[in-house]
Amino acid sequence: MQESAKLDQTISEQWHFHPQLPVGFYPFFEWPPNLKNWLSFVWNYWLQKSDRTIFLALSFFTFYLFMPSMEAMSKLTSDWILMVAVRDLALFLIVTGGLHWWFYMRKSQGIEFKFDTQPELKKNKLFSFNDHIYDNMFYSIVSGLPVWIGFEVLLLWSFASGSIEIYQFSDGWIWFCLWFPLLQIWQSFHFYWWHRFLHIPFFYKLFHAVHHRNINPGPWSGFSMHPVEHILFMSSLLIHFVIPSHPLHVLYHLYWLVLGTVSTHSGYEMIWLKGKNLLTVGSFFHHIHHRYFNCNYGNPEIPLDLWFGSYHDGSEEATKKMHGKFI
Ligand SMILES: [Zn+2]
Ligand SMILES: [Zn+2]
Repeated sequence: MQESAKLDQTISEQWHFHPQLPVGFYPFFEWPPNLKNWLSFVWNYWLQKSDRTIFLALSFFTFYLFMPSMEAMSKLTSDWILMVAVRDLALFLIVTGGLHWWFYMRKSQGIEFKFDTQPELKKNKLFSFNDHIYDNMFYSIVSGLPVWIGFEVLLLWSFASGSIEIYQFSDGWIWFCLWFPLLQIWQSFHFYWWHRFLHIPFFYKLFHAVHHRNINPGPWSGFSMHPVEHILFMSSLLIHFVIPSHPLHVLYHLYWLVLGTVSTHSGYEMIWLKGKNLLTVGSFFHHIHHRYFNCNYGNPEIPLDLWFGSYHDGSEEATKKMHGKFI
């Protein structure tokens, strides 16, 4: 469908499903602060089953069951690095393959809660192996995974060898707990700026176009990026060199980045099972970015898009306003 034709369509014609509009931001920067919105956010995202609580549980699971000893990690040796690589690969394949299998192979919920039902280009010479999914798998596994493992090994080794001091729960439980939710705000800030930078046409063509070949993303699209973009994407982890952290914070940060991007690109709002929302997975905010390109560079954690004029709230008016405006 031509972009110009979309401009005359109503929202319900443009999308098969969309969440309640406007697609807004979380309440952290609302002024004046609204207690009801804060309580609702904490309840929905931190006190119930959500991507955040699952990644948090997963961080503890990995830390206590699949973490090499601090003594082993104090030296850069292949045995523990290999163990980290194998567990990361396994986790990535389970989550990404699992979501792809659920939505696109088993077609478990058909098009229920799918944002966009237009078929993706599948067989096309544009893609490695002439296949879109294989192409996304290639970039994710051959480029993304080594960058993920590289940052993780660098940080774990730095903790274990004493280059970074480990901030323990006993050093201050308030900071220890607060750093988990604050990490998302930091990541959002970092993401907005490098992402907007990669939309400068010169850099877009060189690096970011790889990710944007996904117009209507699915789980394998999320971590499919050019190696330079992978490094920029994961570089938010360097914050742990300067802000007091524990390896649990690093694991959580990694899962938020990698598994979070897989989930938010799934193309569906939620996993729907037996008439119930099993888990909210998609990000309509970012899905809009994949369709219209020149808007919603950040995510709903910080309203940077609102403050810097690139916010698309999902409405027809916003589409018309954005049309033709490339940054
Ligand atoms: Zn994306
Ligand atoms: Zn982009």
